[in-house]
Amino acid sequence: MRSIKHIHGDKEPHWVGDGFYVKTLFNHLDDDPDFNYRHTDPFLLLDYGQPTNFAPNPNYKTQPHGVGQHPHKGFETVTLAYAGEISHADSAGGYGVIQEGDVQWMTAGRGIMHEEFHSPAFGQRGGPFSMVQLWVNLPSAHKLTEPKYQTLKRDDLPIVNLTDNENGNEIGKAAIIAGEWQDTTGAASTFTPINMWDIALHSAGSTTLQVPNSHNVMILVQEGTLLINDTPVSAGSLIQFATPSDTDLDSDINAANEPSATPVSDSIKLTYPKLSDDEQAPSTVKLLLLSGEPIGEPVAGYGPFVMNTQAELKQTFRDYQMGNFGK
Ligand code: MN
Repeated sequence: MRSIKHIHGDKEPHWVGDGFYVKTLFNHLDDDPDFNYRHTDPFLLLDYGQPTNFAPNPNYKTQPHGVGQHPHKGFETVTLAYAGEISHADSAGGYGVIQEGDVQWMTAGRGIMHEEFHSPAFGQRGGPFSMVQLWVNLPSAHKLTEPKYQTLKRDDLPIVNLTDNENGNEIGKAAIIAGEWQDTTGAASTFTPINMWDIALHSAGSTTLQVPNSHNVMILVQEGTLLINDTPVSAGSLIQFATPSDTDLDSDINAANEPSATPVSDSIKLTYPKLSDDEQAPSTVKLLLLSGEPIGEPVAGYGPFVMNTQAELKQTFRDYQMGNFGK
């Protein structure tokens, strides 16, 4: 079993533009010795917008809530809509609106300009809004790849059943946004091995997930309370699991003489607790599992740019100031 290293979540929220009220649950710029980019690689940043109610915006056509034109370079932005709708348009011609359960996967690569707003329909009606934005690093070999945009609609995501370890009953489902679940391949094309699974549990029981033991692993609890590896966790928490290198110290001795055959997996147990008779049935439990093979390269990042060296970062700022971006 992959052990839990720490449970995060006590971050102050802040506004991104006037549309996204988010907690940054991790950021590659953080220098916490126990939770920095080494522990999250290839994921650079996670902004979690917990459910927030927006009033209807009377100026939804001319002044939509969100963030206007801004640049990115050297990584990918992945946005998941949990509630509400987000529209996106970029300088490479990518455009799309995502609704609950949909995902936008934008590859900034060698440079892009984009805007992120509440959709006109959502701006007009208002209501609950909740989302996640992840920054996924690109390896140096693909940092300057052509910009690309993938809209992944909920209906296009492969869905797998999560079954109870004891009786085999289905207790939940996982949408495989990216990566591999047994024989099921996720919808997104990625540059490095990544698992991104949008998980919902609806009935009491325990189910076990398998993730590659070479991956960094995190879980965001988006809704409800549950046990992960028998530890109680609740909505808004980010579960940081021990890094592969933490566990290598123990396993190397045994692994040294073994042939490297099939990849080894670690298990993570999710338990949706049984209720006593007088307790109310809880709502659905929703989780986002993130795991990824560490890229293991140096990172030089500032603001919306993430390169490998300070020289590349300086050049990127020069290019941006010269107006050479997104062309
Ligand atoms: Mn952006």
